[in-house]
Amino acid sequence: MSLLELRHLSKTYPGQNGAVVQAVSDVSLTIEPGEVLGVVGESGCGKSTLGRSLLRLIEPSGGEILFEGEDLMGLSQRAMKPRRRDLQIIFQDPFGSLNPRHTVGGIIGEPLVVHGVGTREERAARVAELLKLVGLPEDAGKRYPHEFSGGQRQRIAIARALALNPKLLVADEAVSALDVSIQSQIINLIADLQKRLNLSILFISHDLSVIRHVSDRIAVMYLGRIVEVGPAEEIMDAPKHPYTQALLSAIPRPGVERKQRIVLQGELPDPANPPSGCAFHTRCPKVMDICHSVRPELARPQASAVEAGSVSAVACHLYPAA
Ligand code: SF4
Ligand code: MG
Repeated sequence: MSLLELRHLSKTYPGQNGAVVQAVSDVSLTIEPGEVLGVVGESGCGKSTLGRSLLRLIEPSGGEILFEGEDLMGLSQRAMKPRRRDLQIIFQDPFGSLNPRHTVGGIIGEPLVVHGVGTREERAARVAELLKLVGLPEDAGKRYPHEFSGGQRQRIAIARALALNPKLLVADEAVSALDVSIQSQIINLIADLQKRLNLSILFISHDLSVIRHVSDRIAVMYLGRIVEVGPAEEIMDAPKHPYTQALLSAIPRPGVERKQRIVLQGELPDPANPPSGCAFHTRCPKVMDICHSVRPELARPQASAVEAGSVSAVACHLYPAA
Protein backbone atom coordinates (compact mmCIF):
# COMPACT_ATOMS: atom_id res chain seq x y z
CA MET A 1 0.00 0.00 0.00
CA SER A 2 1.26 3.45 -0.87
CA LEU A 3 1.64 5.92 1.99
CA LEU A 4 -0.40 8.41 0.00
CA GLU A 5 -2.51 7.88 -3.06
CA LEU A 6 -4.31 10.70 -4.81
CA ARG A 7 -7.13 9.70 -7.11
CA HIS A 8 -8.50 12.23 -9.55
CA LEU A 9 -7.87 15.12 -7.18
CA SER A 10 -9.18 18.45 -8.40
CA LYS A 11 -9.52 21.98 -7.10
CA THR A 12 -11.56 24.71 -8.75
CA TYR A 13 -11.89 28.34 -7.77
CA PRO A 14 -14.53 30.83 -8.78
CA GLY A 15 -12.88 33.19 -11.25
CA GLN A 16 -13.95 36.56 -12.58
CA ASN A 17 -17.30 36.99 -14.36
CA GLY A 18 -18.55 33.57 -13.32
CA ALA A 19 -15.56 31.75 -14.79
CA VAL A 20 -14.26 28.61 -13.12
CA VAL A 21 -10.53 28.36 -12.52
CA GLN A 22 -9.37 24.77 -12.64
CA ALA A 23 -6.23 25.02 -10.48
CA VAL A 24 -5.74 21.26 -10.13
CA SER A 25 -7.33 18.85 -12.61
CA ASP A 26 -7.71 15.12 -12.21
CA VAL A 27 -4.37 14.50 -10.49
CA SER A 28 -3.64 10.87 -9.61
CA LEU A 29 -0.32 10.18 -7.88
CA THR A 30 1.21 7.89 -5.28
CA ILE A 31 3.95 8.42 -2.72
CA GLU A 32 5.58 5.40 -1.13
CA PRO A 33 7.00 5.27 2.42
CA GLY A 34 10.44 6.91 2.37
CA GLU A 35 10.01 8.24 -1.15
CA VAL A 36 10.65 11.77 -2.39
CA LEU A 37 8.32 12.84 -5.16
CA GLY A 38 9.34 16.07 -6.86
CA VAL A 39 6.62 18.22 -8.41
CA VAL A 40 7.87 20.75 -10.94
CA GLY A 41 6.24 23.33 -13.17
CA GLU A 42 6.06 27.05 -13.78
CA SER A 43 4.68 29.43 -11.20
CA GLY A 44 0.88 29.29 -11.38
CA CYS A 45 0.65 25.70 -12.66
CA GLY A 46 -1.16 24.49 -9.53
CA LYS A 47 1.74 22.89 -7.60
CA SER A 48 1.07 24.76 -4.36
CA THR A 49 -2.66 24.22 -4.67
CA LEU A 50 -1.96 20.50 -5.09
CA GLY A 51 0.27 20.45 -1.98
CA ARG A 52 -2.26 22.31 0.15
CA SER A 53 -5.25 20.35 -1.20
CA LEU A 54 -3.78 16.98 -0.35
CA LEU A 55 -3.29 18.17 3.24
CA ARG A 56 -6.79 19.66 3.16
CA LEU A 57 -5.39 23.04 4.17
CA ILE A 58 -7.66 24.07 1.33
CA GLU A 59 -10.65 21.92 0.47
CA PRO A 60 -10.32 19.94 -2.76
CA SER A 61 -13.29 20.08 -5.12
CA GLY A 62 -13.24 16.39 -5.85
CA GLY A 63 -11.28 13.18 -5.85
CA GLU A 64 -9.84 10.96 -3.14
CA ILE A 65 -6.87 11.36 -0.80
CA LEU A 66 -5.95 7.93 0.51
CA PHE A 67 -3.47 8.16 3.38
CA GLU A 68 -2.44 4.71 4.60
CA GLY A 69 -5.58 3.51 2.86
CA GLU A 70 -7.98 5.91 4.61
CA ASP A 71 -9.77 8.51 2.50
CA LEU A 72 -9.06 11.86 4.17
CA MET A 73 -11.80 13.49 2.08
CA GLY A 74 -14.36 11.63 4.15
CA LEU A 75 -13.09 13.11 7.44
CA SER A 76 -14.40 16.21 9.18
CA GLN A 77 -11.70 18.78 10.02
CA ARG A 78 -12.07 17.63 13.62
CA ALA A 79 -11.45 14.02 12.63
CA MET A 80 -8.50 15.20 10.53
CA LYS A 81 -6.70 16.57 13.58
CA PRO A 82 -4.99 13.35 14.72
CA ARG A 83 -3.96 12.76 11.09
CA ARG A 84 -2.32 16.17 10.98
CA ARG A 85 0.47 14.76 13.12
CA ASP A 86 1.49 12.62 10.17
CA LEU A 87 1.14 15.35 7.53
CA GLN A 88 3.28 18.47 7.75
CA ILE A 89 4.26 21.30 5.43
CA ILE A 90 7.08 23.80 5.09
CA PHE A 91 6.55 26.94 3.07
CA GLN A 92 8.63 29.12 0.81
CA ASP A 93 8.78 32.12 3.06
CA PRO A 94 10.68 31.49 6.29
CA PHE A 95 10.15 35.15 7.14
CA GLY A 96 6.38 35.14 6.97
CA SER A 97 5.67 31.69 8.39
CA LEU A 98 7.27 32.18 11.82
CA ASN A 99 5.50 34.26 14.46
CA PRO A 100 7.95 37.10 15.25
CA ARG A 101 6.66 37.47 18.82
CA HIS A 102 7.34 33.88 19.81
CA THR A 103 10.70 32.45 20.79
CA VAL A 104 12.16 29.86 18.46
CA GLY A 105 11.68 27.24 21.17
CA GLY A 106 8.02 28.23 21.46
CA ILE A 107 7.59 28.02 17.70
CA ILE A 108 9.20 24.61 17.37
CA GLY A 109 7.34 23.25 20.39
CA GLU A 110 3.94 24.65 19.40
CA PRO A 111 2.76 21.54 17.50
CA LEU A 112 3.52 19.47 20.61
CA VAL A 113 1.35 21.78 22.71
CA VAL A 114 -1.46 21.81 20.13
CA HIS A 115 -1.52 18.01 20.02
CA GLY A 116 -1.06 17.62 23.78
CA VAL A 117 2.22 15.73 23.51
CA GLY A 118 4.37 15.24 26.64
CA THR A 119 4.98 17.21 29.79
CA ARG A 120 6.61 20.62 29.80
CA GLU A 121 9.99 19.05 30.47
CA GLU A 122 9.53 16.43 27.77
CA ARG A 123 8.59 19.08 25.26
CA ALA A 124 11.64 21.17 26.19
CA ALA A 125 13.83 18.09 25.69
CA ARG A 126 12.19 17.42 22.32
CA VAL A 127 12.78 21.02 21.22
CA ALA A 128 16.47 20.72 22.17
CA GLU A 129 16.67 17.48 20.18
CA LEU A 130 15.03 19.13 17.15
CA LEU A 131 17.37 22.13 17.27
CA LYS A 132 20.30 19.73 17.16
CA LEU A 133 18.70 17.70 14.37
CA VAL A 134 18.47 20.74 12.08
CA GLY A 135 21.89 22.07 13.01
CA LEU A 136 20.93 25.06 15.15
CA PRO A 137 22.79 26.02 18.34
CA GLU A 138 21.32 24.95 21.66
CA ASP A 139 20.60 28.50 22.80
CA ALA A 140 18.57 29.25 19.64
CA GLY A 141 15.41 28.21 21.47
CA LYS A 142 15.50 31.31 23.69
CA ARG A 143 15.95 33.72 20.80
CA TYR A 144 13.51 35.24 18.30
CA PRO A 145 13.10 34.59 14.55
CA HIS A 146 14.41 38.03 13.52
CA GLU A 147 17.78 37.18 15.05
CA PHE A 148 18.30 34.49 12.40
CA SER A 149 19.24 34.47 8.73
CA GLY A 150 16.90 33.16 6.02
CA GLY A 151 18.58 29.75 5.93
CA GLN A 152 18.46 29.44 9.72
CA ARG A 153 14.80 30.42 9.73
CA GLN A 154 14.10 27.67 7.25
CA ARG A 155 15.88 25.29 9.65
CA ILE A 156 13.49 26.50 12.37
CA ALA A 157 10.50 25.84 10.08
CA ILE A 158 11.84 22.35 9.32
CA ALA A 159 12.32 21.62 13.04
CA ARG A 160 8.74 22.68 13.73
CA ALA A 161 7.45 20.51 10.86
CA LEU A 162 9.32 17.50 12.25
CA ALA A 163 8.28 18.01 15.89
CA LEU A 164 5.46 15.44 15.70
CA ASN A 165 7.44 12.85 13.71
CA PRO A 166 5.33 13.18 10.55
CA LYS A 167 5.27 10.49 7.88
CA LEU A 168 4.75 12.89 5.00
CA LEU A 169 6.26 16.32 4.55
CA VAL A 170 5.14 18.72 1.85
CA ALA A 171 7.98 21.12 1.02
CA ASP A 172 6.48 23.97 -1.01
CA GLU A 173 9.27 25.97 -2.69
CA ALA A 174 11.17 25.44 0.57
CA VAL A 175 14.43 26.88 -0.77
CA SER A 176 13.19 29.32 -3.42
CA ALA A 177 13.49 32.41 -1.22
CA LEU A 178 17.10 31.64 -0.24
CA ASP A 179 20.43 32.58 -1.80
CA VAL A 180 21.81 29.87 -4.06
CA SER A 181 24.67 29.03 -1.65
CA ILE A 182 22.20 28.62 1.22
CA GLN A 183 19.78 26.66 -0.99
CA SER A 184 22.19 23.75 -1.29
CA GLN A 185 22.72 23.65 2.50
CA ILE A 186 18.99 23.40 3.10
CA ILE A 187 18.51 20.86 0.29
CA ASN A 188 21.28 18.75 1.82
CA LEU A 189 19.68 19.06 5.24
CA ILE A 190 16.30 17.95 3.90
CA ALA A 191 17.89 15.04 2.00
CA ASP A 192 19.83 13.99 5.10
CA LEU A 193 16.76 14.17 7.37
CA GLN A 194 14.71 12.30 4.80
CA LYS A 195 17.13 9.37 4.94
CA ARG A 196 17.59 9.40 8.71
CA LEU A 197 13.87 9.58 9.42
CA ASN A 198 12.68 7.61 6.36
CA LEU A 199 10.35 10.52 5.58
CA SER A 200 8.15 10.68 2.52
CA ILE A 201 8.36 14.10 0.91
CA LEU A 202 6.36 15.88 -1.75
CA PHE A 203 9.00 18.35 -2.89
CA ILE A 204 7.46 21.20 -4.85
CA SER A 205 9.63 23.58 -6.87
CA HIS A 206 9.54 25.57 -10.08
CA ASP A 207 13.22 24.72 -10.44
CA LEU A 208 14.11 21.36 -11.99
CA SER A 209 17.74 21.80 -10.97
CA VAL A 210 16.60 21.84 -7.31
CA ILE A 211 14.10 18.98 -7.68
CA ARG A 212 16.49 16.55 -9.34
CA HIS A 213 18.87 16.51 -6.37
CA VAL A 214 16.32 15.22 -3.92
CA SER A 215 13.68 13.32 -5.88
CA ASP A 216 13.26 9.60 -6.44
CA ARG A 217 10.49 10.35 -8.93
CA ILE A 218 9.46 13.56 -10.62
CA ALA A 219 6.00 14.71 -11.70
CA VAL A 220 5.80 17.58 -14.19
CA MET A 221 2.74 19.84 -13.96
CA TYR A 222 1.28 22.11 -16.58
CA LEU A 223 -1.92 24.09 -16.08
CA GLY A 224 -3.14 21.95 -13.22
CA ARG A 225 -2.41 18.56 -14.77
CA ILE A 226 0.42 16.07 -14.52
CA VAL A 227 1.90 15.82 -18.02
CA GLU A 228 4.75 13.43 -17.24
CA VAL A 229 5.76 11.36 -14.23
CA GLY A 230 8.56 8.86 -13.79
CA PRO A 231 11.84 8.00 -12.07
CA ALA A 232 14.05 11.08 -11.62
CA GLU A 233 16.85 9.64 -13.80
CA GLU A 234 14.45 8.90 -16.63
CA ILE A 235 12.91 12.37 -16.47
CA MET A 236 16.38 13.94 -16.49
CA ASP A 237 18.02 11.64 -19.06
CA ALA A 238 15.12 10.82 -21.36
CA PRO A 239 12.35 13.41 -20.96
CA LYS A 240 9.44 12.67 -23.29
CA HIS A 241 6.89 15.44 -22.98
CA PRO A 242 7.89 18.53 -24.99
CA TYR A 243 7.21 20.65 -21.90
CA THR A 244 9.59 18.56 -19.79
CA GLN A 245 12.16 18.79 -22.58
CA ALA A 246 11.84 22.58 -22.55
CA LEU A 247 12.21 22.79 -18.74
CA LEU A 248 15.26 20.56 -18.91
CA SER A 249 16.91 22.42 -21.76
CA ALA A 250 16.94 25.54 -19.59
CA ILE A 251 19.28 24.12 -16.94
CA PRO A 252 22.99 23.49 -17.34
CA ARG A 253 24.01 19.93 -16.45
CA PRO A 254 27.46 18.56 -15.79
CA GLY A 255 28.53 15.80 -18.18
CA VAL A 256 25.73 16.59 -20.60
CA GLU A 257 26.50 18.64 -23.62
CA ARG A 258 24.37 21.72 -23.49
CA LYS A 259 21.79 21.19 -26.16
CA GLN A 260 20.15 24.05 -27.85
CA ARG A 261 17.81 25.70 -25.44
CA ILE A 262 14.13 25.26 -26.21
CA VAL A 263 12.52 28.62 -25.60
CA LEU A 264 8.80 28.38 -24.99
CA GLN A 265 6.66 30.87 -26.81
CA GLY A 266 4.29 33.00 -24.79
CA GLU A 267 3.14 32.92 -21.20
CA LEU A 268 1.37 30.25 -19.21
CA PRO A 269 -2.25 30.46 -20.48
CA ASP A 270 -5.00 31.74 -18.18
CA PRO A 271 -6.16 28.77 -16.05
CA ALA A 272 -9.70 30.22 -16.17
CA ASN A 273 -9.62 29.77 -19.93
CA PRO A 274 -7.31 26.85 -20.73
CA PRO A 275 -6.57 25.93 -24.36
CA SER A 276 -8.64 23.11 -25.86
CA GLY A 277 -7.18 19.67 -26.49
CA CYS A 278 -3.66 19.50 -25.11
CA ALA A 279 -3.38 22.59 -22.90
CA PHE A 280 0.26 22.93 -23.96
CA HIS A 281 -0.57 23.20 -27.67
CA THR A 282 -0.31 27.01 -27.71
CA ARG A 283 3.38 26.79 -26.79
CA CYS A 284 4.46 23.36 -28.00
CA PRO A 285 7.25 23.24 -30.62
CA LYS A 286 5.92 19.85 -31.80
CA VAL A 287 2.20 20.65 -31.97
CA MET A 288 0.11 18.56 -34.41
CA ASP A 289 -3.47 18.93 -35.66
CA ILE A 290 -4.92 16.46 -33.17
CA CYS A 291 -3.44 18.45 -30.25
CA HIS A 292 -5.90 21.30 -30.78
CA SER A 293 -8.97 19.19 -30.15
CA VAL A 294 -8.11 16.00 -28.27
CA ARG A 295 -6.68 16.01 -24.75
CA PRO A 296 -3.96 13.36 -24.35
CA GLU A 297 -4.35 11.10 -21.30
CA LEU A 298 -1.47 10.49 -18.90
CA ALA A 299 -0.40 6.90 -19.65
CA ARG A 300 2.55 4.61 -20.20
CA PRO A 301 3.43 4.82 -23.92
CA GLN A 302 3.67 1.83 -26.24
CA ALA A 303 7.06 0.16 -25.86
CA SER A 304 7.89 0.92 -29.51
CA ALA A 305 7.50 4.67 -28.90
CA VAL A 306 10.08 4.93 -26.11
CA GLU A 307 13.53 3.69 -25.11
CA ALA A 308 13.91 0.20 -23.63
CA GLY A 309 13.19 0.04 -19.91
CA SER A 310 11.16 3.24 -19.87
CA VAL A 311 8.54 3.35 -17.13
CA SER A 312 7.44 7.01 -17.21
CA ALA A 313 3.87 7.97 -17.98
CA VAL A 314 3.31 10.89 -20.34
CA ALA A 315 0.32 12.86 -21.63
CA CYS A 316 1.23 13.64 -25.24
CA HIS A 317 -0.02 12.48 -28.66
CA LEU A 318 3.55 11.88 -29.78
CA TYR A 319 3.47 8.77 -27.56
CA PRO A 320 0.47 6.53 -28.28
CA ALA A 321 -0.69 4.83 -25.06
CA ALA A 322 0.13 1.17 -24.54
FE1 SF4 B 1 2.76 19.04 -27.94
FE2 SF4 B 1 0.66 17.80 -28.98
FE3 SF4 B 1 2.22 16.54 -27.26
FE4 SF4 B 1 0.62 18.51 -26.46
S1 SF4 B 1 -0.01 16.54 -27.29
S2 SF4 B 1 2.72 18.20 -25.88
S3 SF4 B 1 0.73 19.90 -28.17
S4 SF4 B 1 2.80 17.26 -29.29
MG1 MG C 1 3.62 28.06 -5.59
